[in-house]
Amino acid sequence: MNCLFCDIIAGRKPARKVFEDDRVFAFEDIRPHAPTHVLIVPRRHIIDLKNAAPEDAEIIGYLHLVAAKVARDRSVEDGYRTVFNVGPKAGQSVFHLHLHLLGGRVFHWPPG
Ligand code: 5GP
Ligand code: ZN
Repeated sequence: MNCLFCDIIAGRKPARKVFEDDRVFAFEDIRPHAPTHVLIVPRRHIIDLKNAAPEDAEIIGYLHLVAAKVARDRSVEDGYRTVFNVGPKAGQSVFHLHLHLLGGRVFHWPPG
């Protein structure tokens, strides 16, 4: 299987690592949309939210707790956003589940 994020997690492709443990790998987005733009990725290949199974519930929650930790470490806790893009119409371009953490600027609502 050809997967960019599996390659990054395995060290076959370079990335600027932010955090890792036995379950997740987090790294800087290559095209940041905010001063903090980190991708938090489960080590296990899950395609996206709509393909997630009940047994993925814990890792999906854990991705958010890692986002909160990174936001704390980066001092962007006064306002940040976590996003799953699901499907091409929502902007998903990499089909290995990843949580975007965006922070360090003002975000508008509703999003575009
Ligand atoms: P999506 O569009 O699927 O929600 O998010 C994929 C993200 O991966 C995009 O924000 C894109 O900039 C980022 N990205 C794509 N290729 C690479 C890469 O090779 N390295 C890193 N660090 N980020 C990437
Ligand atoms: Zn993958």
